Amino acid sequence: MEKIDIKSLQLDQLKEYVSSLGAKAFVAGQIYTWLHEKCVDSFDEMTNISKPLREKLKEECYITTLSIRKKQVSKDGTIKYLYQLADGNCIETVLMRYEHGNSICVSCQVGCRMGCTFCASTQHGKVRDLTASEILQQLYHTEKDIGERVSNIVMMGIGEPLDNFDNAIAFIRIISSPQGKNISQRNISLSTCGIVPKIYELAQLKLGITLSISLHATTTEKRKVTMPITNAYSVEELLKACRDYAKTTGRRISFEYTMIKGVNDTDEDALRLSQLLKGMISHVNLIPLNPVDGSAYTQSDDRAIKAFQKKLTDLHVNATIRRRLGQDISAACGQLRNENR
Ligand code: SAH
Repeated sequence: MEKIDIKSLQLDQLKEYVSSLGAKAFVAGQIYTWLHEKCVDSFDEMTNISKPLREKLKEECYITTLSIRKKQVSKDGTIKYLYQLADGNCIETVLMRYEHGNSICVSCQVGCRMGCTFCASTQHGKVRDLTASEILQQLYHTEKDIGERVSNIVMMGIGEPLDNFDNAIAFIRIISSPQGKNISQRNISLSTCGIVPKIYELAQLKLGITLSISLHATTTEKRKVTMPITNAYSVEELLKACRDYAKTTGRRISFEYTMIKGVNDTDEDALRLSQLLKGMISHVNLIPLNPVDGSAYTQSDDRAIKAFQKKLTDLHVNATIRRRLGQDISAACGQLRNENR
């Protein structure tokens, strides 16, 4: 029999499982606390759980492990972890320090199959999805390593969260549950290249998270060149899904726009962007393109980025320029999975 990945179970699933073993429901709550608040990595540490039940759990379940293969600290304090999974695959996790607290960028897949031409994570395709527990452990292990709490989560590491929908959602539910780390969904951002049917599905769940859309282009034609997902869903279809999301959830959508020199940084692009976002509660995050080996693109000049932002502001679009963190250790957006495969 295949063993159960116990750290991926949500509390109600754990209750069901534990009661199938003949234990009381409150015991599930105790186990859940061990797994997700105290974040233990073995059943023997669960000292208030009876010995026979612990033995039974050991027999039928496993606790996902992660180990630090490499750790790099940037001069700005950003830390990049190369975590090794039980099967030998590696993923990257980035810890960023802000005045308002620690923020973690987690990976959702080993590799990525979305094929965006400016991003390192996708250059060699997708190997596999991560389980919910493997996404959780990135945060638990990082907190243990730094001895501090993490208060914000961005699902912007390697992979496409909506291409691993169920596990990404299970992660969000567990990490925000009061019996676990209790991180408010308000402090969680999920970033997607725009898998349209999944955006509608996500809206129905009415989570409190922030949805970030990696837009990066203002016409379907142009977006097809850098983001192949546009062959499946046009910019118009994507924006329609975003409007539906904002209406259904009442949440402001965040748009990421990577500034690529001579590709998407003209005045006309700014104008078209403002037209696309008209009437929607939104925020635009301008990201200066980070260098990726083997890519022909270069980042827009600082002057062009500032001018783009000003143009957007003049057109009543809320836009900020994202700070570049961890660039010296290739931990910035789009640089993950470059050196460590
Ligand atoms: N797959 C998800 C999340 C991972 S990427 C998504 O596409 O949103 C996180 C963000 O970094 C995305 O907005 C992505 O487009 C952006 N990004 C990718 N490569 C980049 C690069 N070289 N420079 C700057 N941002 C980049």
